[in-house]
Amino acid sequence: MSLITELPAIFDQFSQARQKGFVTVMDLKEQGIPLVGTYCTFMPQEIPMAAGAVVVSLCSTSDETIEEAEKDLPRNLCPLIKSSYGFGKTDKCPYFYFSDLVVGETTCDGKKKMYEYMADFKPVHVMQLPNSTADAASRALWKAEIHRLKEAVEQQFGVPVTEQALREAIVLKNQERRATANFYRVGQLNPPALSGMDILKVVYGATFRFDKKALINELNDMAERARQDWQDGKRLEARPRILITGCPIGGAAEKVVRAIEENGGWVVGFENCTGAKATERCVEETGDMYDALTDKYLAIGCSCISPNDQRLKLLSEMVEEYQADGVVDVILQACHTYAVESLAIKRHVRDNHHIPYIAIETDYSTSDLGQLSTRVAAFIEML
Ligand code: SF4
Ligand code: SF4
Repeated sequence: MSLITELPAIFDQFSQARQKGFVTVMDLKEQGIPLVGTYCTFMPQEIPMAAGAVVVSLCSTSDETIEEAEKDLPRNLCPLIKSSYGFGKTDKCPYFYFSDLVVGETTCDGKKKMYEYMADFKPVHVMQLPNSTADAASRALWKAEIHRLKEAVEQQFGVPVTEQALREAIVLKNQERRATANFYRVGQLNPPALSGMDILKVVYGATFRFDKKALINELNDMAERARQDWQDGKRLEARPRILITGCPIGGAAEKVVRAIEENGGWVVGFENCTGAKATERCVEETGDMYDALTDKYLAIGCSCISPNDQRLKLLSEMVEEYQADGVVDVILQACHTYAVESLAIKRHVRDNHHIPYIAIETDYSTSDLGQLSTRVAAFIEML
């Protein structure tokens, strides 16, 4: 079969991975394998992995349960929090239903307060994230929190997190990160080999593939084939190249990527937690493992951290590496930290890279599709 017919079919399989993964998770549960749910890339997945658990992202990306969530939570709250709480409360998300433990973290105010209510119907362990990452006290706090997570996981599952198991989990998770980055860096090719929608399908879908060794092979295989295809001259047409930053996307928020690509641009890179923010940096495989985990996770440039120079640094690297012509900052409605930080991002992009920037505030509904399309079209036209 030729590459042209094969790769898109594989990308579609990845986009269905979330639905298909439900069955896999049921099988895992029948085999007695514990499931740990998470809502944030700060959660050191290596710890539950070392206890033999499978980790799944529970961040919900549809507005289906927001009405139900609003019975308990304020309306003026980020859709990611409302949707995630709503899916948990109504038992509509099989991943949540099957999770033996949810690990939360004190990132933004809305999320950390939501966990207090979630604990009424699910075992929840909350990690205390420092507000800053630069000083010794913050670092010591996060390291202690990683140890506290280890104890909570051991107690929950009755399995010790041994040094050897943790080291193996670090190596495996690093391999997954490198394979994911190897795939999304195909976006650096100019003109592009793949659309942003295809990259997103794979990167988002990959989080619902639980056989990590198979996933690593698939990601590397797809990256190699896409690069070969490009070498052979099968390329997309040249268009303005867009770098996405801001809140996590996927599911309903894919509408921003679709709007960009339907209006004459290509999304070539994702700096947010759906892409590079969580993935670029690996965990050191030598030395003290808890120090290494502390360093890796505190290097995540989330707007909940102040100051957040790490986001600017990664953004700068990506603007250059992906040859971006413009930056689109996606802000989920009522996400105060990303909304406030948008001014710093705008200044940074304009002053240091001299390329246009636009902030787009959106939610999980379809009500802003027309306005979104108009704004994105005007932005791309000026590139
Ligand atoms: S944007 Fe911040 S709070 Fe949200 S998943 Fe990423 S690190 Fe966590
Ligand atoms: S998008 Fe913003 S408000 Fe929503 S959970 Fe993430 S950091 Fe919190």
